Amino acid sequence: MTINILRTQDGKTYQEEFSLGHSKVTTLLSALYEIKSKLDPTLTFGSGCRSGICGSCAVLVDGKETLACSHKPSADELIEPLRYHPVIRDLKVDKSKAHATLSILKSVDLSPDPKKIDEQKTKIQTDCILCDSCYSACPVLAVNSDFLGPFTLTRVYRYEAIQSSNLLESIQTNGIWDCTLCGECTIACPQGIDSKMDITMLRSLSAQAGHSDPNFGAMGTMEAMDFGTPDFGDGGFGF
Ligand code: SF4
Ligand code: SF4
Repeated sequence: MTINILRTQDGKTYQEEFSLGHSKVTTLLSALYEIKSKLDPTLTFGSGCRSGICGSCAVLVDGKETLACSHKPSADELIEPLRYHPVIRDLKVDKSKAHATLSILKSVDLSPDPKKIDEQKTKIQTDCILCDSCYSACPVLAVNSDFLGPFTLTRVYRYEAIQSSNLLESIQTNGIWDCTLCGECTIACPQGIDSKMDITMLRSLSAQAGHSDPNFGAMGTMEAMDFGTPDFGDGGFGF
């Protein structure tokens, strides 16, 4: 079996192919450990619990976010680091900027509100392992690096659903209205968390609280502008 890895070493990025011969590796993570122990000790990657709980080993496999510890490798797959994270070395990325988006939760009021949604209905959001797969899958981060991202918005929804808080204010800019509702975060999540739905629910809660999509305001301004009568040069009708 061969494994292709997009490597970054000493500021240089390049693709390298490793042959594991007939070695019987069960997971991509065990293949990475085998390469490191037998072929190249400098290979660097994230790893923790090795059982899908800690989220440390998320990588891209042929462009799809995947936990290396729960993926059975196939020949010629390309393994790359997660998107939108600075690469420290090889497959190891710096998650600090992505995780800094969680700082908006510091001000949350943690007292439960019995009038809010049943806590059990949003229990799955607490299964997040901060693997950052959803963040890597989100196309909005390609154009707006300040976007809060799916895992943080999912946590905001969890808090908003079960208790009173002031968090809605914090997600109006670079938050819920920037999301395109493409659903890539939901597809990428190994825990089955539906961030797209959580963001949809946050939009609804925001609208009930008097917030609105700022893009609609911009569109209204466009419609109010007079762009004049088009001259089609065809005697009067244009199509
Ligand atoms: S649904 Fe929204 S948050 Fe999720 S990946 Fe798409 S744009 Fe990003
Ligand atoms: S919501 Fe899912 S994909 Fe996103 S960080 Fe949490 S566990 Fe990973």
